[in-house]
Amino acid sequence: MANSKFEYVKLYESDDRLLPRTYIVIRVDGRGFHQFSKKYDFEKPNDLNALNCMNKAAEGVMRNVQDVFLAYGQSDEYSFVFLKDTNLFERRASKLMSTVVSTFTANYIYAWSQLFPNNPLDGNFLPTFDSRAVMYPDVQSLKDYFSWRQADCHINNLYNTTFWTLVQKGQLTPHDAQTKLIGTLSADKNEILFTDFGINYNNEPEMFKKGSILRWEKLDHKYPKNPTKRQLDKYRKSVRDAKINILHCDIIKDEQFWNDVLAEEDTAATTTPTS
Ligand code: ATP
Ligand code: ATP
Ligand code: MG
Ligand code: MG
Repeated sequence: MANSKFEYVKLYESDDRLLPRTYIVIRVDGRGFHQFSKKYDFEKPNDLNALNCMNKAAEGVMRNVQDVFLAYGQSDEYSFVFLKDTNLFERRASKLMSTVVSTFTANYIYAWSQLFPNNPLDGNFLPTFDSRAVMYPDVQSLKDYFSWRQADCHINNLYNTTFWTLVQKGQLTPHDAQTKLIGTLSADKNEILFTDFGINYNNEPEMFKKGSILRWEKLDHKYPKNPTKRQLDKYRKSVRDAKINILHCDIIKDEQFWNDVLAEEDTAATTTPTS
C-alpha cells in the first residue's frame, strides 16, 4: 500500500507521543466489576482468587511489555510504570495503553481458566478493562501517585470489611449497614469491628489492606538495540527466567522501598526500538 493515493489518510492520525523523561503510568480498571463480582460469586469483601487472578494478569504485562519496572494493584485496578527513558512505541499513548490493556485482559482470561476451573467464564459476560495514561514529571509525584492508590485501597478495604461484617456476622441488611456507617471515621469502623465482632483490623491479610506491588527481583535485562533474532531470543529467555516479587508493604511511608526501586530504575538502560 506504500505510496498509494490513499496514503494521505495517515495525516489524520494525531501525534499522541507522551512527554520525554517523564514516568508514564498506565492504569487499567475492570469495567463494571461490581456486577462482574456478583455474577461470578466473588467472596465479599475480598475474593482471594480474584486478586490472584489480577496479580497473574499484571505479571503477564511485566513479562510481555518491555520497560515496565513496577506495578501496583488493588481491587479491579492495576497501575504500571515505565522506565523514565522508555522509547517503546515512540512513547505513543494510544499504542502503549492499548498494548497494556489487551495484554492484561488476555492474561486475566488465561489466569481465570487456571484459578477458577469450576467457575468458567460465560461468553456473554466476559471481563474487560479500560486504561488511561498519565505522565509524572518527577519522583515525588510518582511516589504521591502510588500513595494515593494505596490510601484508596486502605479506605475502601476498611469500609468494605466493616460493611460486610455487619451484613454477614451482624445480620444487618445492606441498607441498614450502609446507614450505620454514614459519617463514621476510620477509628469508628475499627471500634465497631473490635467491640462488636472481636476483629482486630490490623490482623487482616496484608494483601487486602495494602494491595500488591510487583517488582523485578533484579532489573538487569536490557532490551537490545536493533536486535538480531538470537539477541531477541536471549532477551526473551532472560525475561522469562527473571523473578517477579509480590510485596504487600507500605509504600506511603517506606523510604527504603523507593530508594531500592529507583536505584534499579536508574541503572537499567532502555534502548527499546521504535515500532
Ligand atoms: P467501573 O466500570 O466504573 O470501573 P466498577 O463496577 O468496576 O465500575 P469500581 O469502582 O472499579 O467499579 O469497583 C470495583 C468493584 O469490583 C468493587 O467495588 C468490588 O465490588 C468489586 N471487586 C473487585 N475485586 C474484587 C475482589 N477481589 N473481591 C470482591 N469484590 C471485588
Ligand atoms: P506489530 O506488532 O508492529 O503490529 P506485526 O508482526 O503484528 O507487528 P503487522 O504489520 O501488524 O505486523 O502485520 C501482521 C502480520 O501478521 C502480517 O504481515 C502477516 O504476516 C500476519 N498475519 C496476520 N493475519 C494473518 C492471517 N490471517 N493469515 C496469515 N498471516 C497473517
Ligand atoms: Mg472498575
Ligand atoms: Mg476499580
